Amino acid sequence: MNLLIFFEISDETEIHELEDNESYRYLGVMEADDRKQSEMKARIKKKYIHRLIKVLKSKLTAGNLITTINTWAVSLYRYGAEIIQWVRAELQQLDKRMRKLMTMHKGRVYVERDQGERGLMSVVETVKYESHSLKKYTEHNSVEFIRTAGKIINTNSEDGKQDYRNHGKTERKQNWNDKPMNRQHLRQTEDQAAKETWPWVKRGCLKRETESLIIAAQDQALRTNYRKAKIEKSTTDPKCRLCKQNDETVSHTVSECSKIAYTEYKGRHDKVASAVHWSICKKDELPHTEQWYDYRAEAVLEKEKVKLLWDFNVQTDKANEARSPDLILINK
Ligand SMILES: [Zn+2]
Repeated sequence: MNLLIFFEISDETEIHELEDNESYRYLGVMEADDRKQSEMKARIKKKYIHRLIKVLKSKLTAGNLITTINTWAVSLYRYGAEIIQWVRAELQQLDKRMRKLMTMHKGRVYVERDQGERGLMSVVETVKYESHSLKKYTEHNSVEFIRTAGKIINTNSEDGKQDYRNHGKTERKQNWNDKPMNRQHLRQTEDQAAKETWPWVKRGCLKRETESLIIAAQDQALRTNYRKAKIEKSTTDPKCRLCKQNDETVSHTVSECSKIAYTEYKGRHDKVASAVHWSICKKDELPHTEQWYDYRAEAVLEKEKVKLLWDFNVQTDKANEARSPDLILINK
């Protein structure tokens, strides 16, 4: 194959030789005698961290924040994925740094948000995926020298593009499932888990910090006394700092501690019941506030056809201690 390249240079243009430490850019990559690998890596890394910090300073909700990071920061690694020779350890360091900046523990970070994960794209996976795509592109190209050039790419391209992606997802999910502490929440909610389990993650409307906190709690990753003593192997007493009777695990703190049963737990219970009360009022056109969280339930609400009672003592024929239901709705 004959390749003819020509271009015109005006008389005033002077092309000088490169000085020792000088380089030029070709398709965005710095080159001299060879590609300037370390300079390019340093530039991309600097830009990546700069963009990451800039996005993290924004007020974006958790879902939008992840989308922005994936498209604006992680994508820096897409271009030149195979041209710049990344070492896996370098990329792993970057993923670690990203998780640290995002205050994410190493658990449900990647994969899709509709599966309860946070949907972040890992730099390691991004570079791997791009290399794979480039390999596929060169292998099936009709131009011979592109096919030949593709032979230097080491990535295995036997699987289809989609299979390759799915394989990565399955592997990451398996890693999460293999961690017994992280998986505890899944095990405990297995019976109830359904597609309704994860919309709160998929919608991504919470603040980043709130989402991180909830996910860390579900994955038992909060630094409770039990975690400090058993996982971090410190000398901390694993018992609950309030009741001092049971191990201070996340489950104990959120639902079992006798010291806060009548304050925190009751308050939370009443808030949920009050939201249900508000929904009934809205449906049956009984008086209610604009927002459920501003609502304080009235003891008795009545209209022509309905009567709604809140925390009302019911007279029973036989002795019954539990005779004060949260809500009673009477259709007259
Ligand atoms: Zn306790």
